[in-house]
Amino acid sequence: MKTPFVTRDQLEAIAAQYPTPFHIYDEAGIRENARRLRQAFSWNPGYREYFAVKATPTPAILKILKEEGCGCDCSSLAELTMAQRCGVTGENIMFSSNNTPAEEFQMAHQLGAIINLDDLTLVDYLAQSIGTVPETICCRYNPGGVFTLAQTREGFQVMDNPGDAKYGMTRPQIAQAFTRLAELGAKHFGIHAFLASNTLSNDYYPALARILFQLAVELHAETGVHISFINLSGGIGVPYRPDQTPNDIAVIGEGVRRAYEEILVPAGMDDVALYTELGRFMLAPYGHLVTRVTHEKHIYKEYIGVDACACNLMRPAMYGAYHHITVMGKETAPCDHKYDVVGGLCENNDKFAVDRMLPKIDVGDLLVIHDTGAHGHAMGYNYNGKLRSAELLLKTDGSVELIRRAETLEDYFATVVW
Ligand SMILES: *Cc1c(COP(=O)(O)O)cnc(C)c1O
Repeated sequence: MKTPFVTRDQLEAIAAQYPTPFHIYDEAGIRENARRLRQAFSWNPGYREYFAVKATPTPAILKILKEEGCGCDCSSLAELTMAQRCGVTGENIMFSSNNTPAEEFQMAHQLGAIINLDDLTLVDYLAQSIGTVPETICCRYNPGGVFTLAQTREGFQVMDNPGDAKYGMTRPQIAQAFTRLAELGAKHFGIHAFLASNTLSNDYYPALARILFQLAVELHAETGVHISFINLSGGIGVPYRPDQTPNDIAVIGEGVRRAYEEILVPAGMDDVALYTELGRFMLAPYGHLVTRVTHEKHIYKEYIGVDACACNLMRPAMYGAYHHITVMGKETAPCDHKYDVVGGLCENNDKFAVDRMLPKIDVGDLLVIHDTGAHGHAMGYNYNGKLRSAELLLKTDGSVELIRRAETLEDYFATVVW
């Protein structure tokens, strides 16, 4: 069972001031989760989370996470600019991008960000773009093949397919990159890899850590460089479905600690800092898309029309992703009606739910669509001339703050040359 972090009465009061649809975020939940993460890795003195800005590129959110000790993981000019304007600079920025234009390397370098190189060819491209290589540098590794976890709570599981992913360097390339970077003056090296997305297993990070720790020991021996950090990147998932078991971040932190003790410490590499670049895990559960039922339609199926659409939340339309829905005020009513919950786009995949069993819904009901705090508003778009919604923050004191206003028609037409 998933419980919204707001009640119907609260939402009706909020909706009287800020019309639906809107995204709302739970400050208390975000802070508590960030503290649990920090605690789980507190055994590693250099540990830092770089929040993946692309998941929720909203300054008020970045500032909350900054207060909780997080930096920013950026991958574009706009994300770098947003981090800078939130007061996040220097080594509190990780710049993990691919197919990177020179001006983005230049800005990242000006800000003093840690640059994470996605490819061997980018070593010389970076040197040309900024006239030097930074003393601290990171390279992204792609082991190829298929990444599997031998045993998880769900049994044997193929997690993802790095051999099919465009990111990172091969094993020989990353050694070559380190050697070349050292020739060009780099002194402090990092290794990064992202092998699986939205994992619901306490074993993913420890398995990834073992691969990267082993690689660090080998690269240190082969190239002589000093490895100062290992970036476990993103990929820790959240239970979108109510019957799924959430990850236990304390267990994950402990699993990574054991790998560290077994692989890095005996190799004399006990000064390696660990970094993470989580996005979904940091925000997804702490955001709701709130929408009102505007129409019902009875044809070959039962349709519930709402005032949000895929432009507000693309994941169901794009990946068939499940997002749980709570009909506010009917939390305990039996789920004895089968509905498709749909937006108004001229696109038949504009459906938040298909054949979903829900309580009887009436026009005027408020729906909470769960787990929209990451890759929700962020993936918004303007198809069919739909305007992007407001974002609100439910603060720890219970008050509500507008942190991004809804778009207006003037915004929509602002770039047109008439
Ligand atoms: C998207 C992304 C992340 C965050 O991934 P989540 O699955 O949201 O944790 C981290 N690092 C990089 C380079 C990414 O592209």
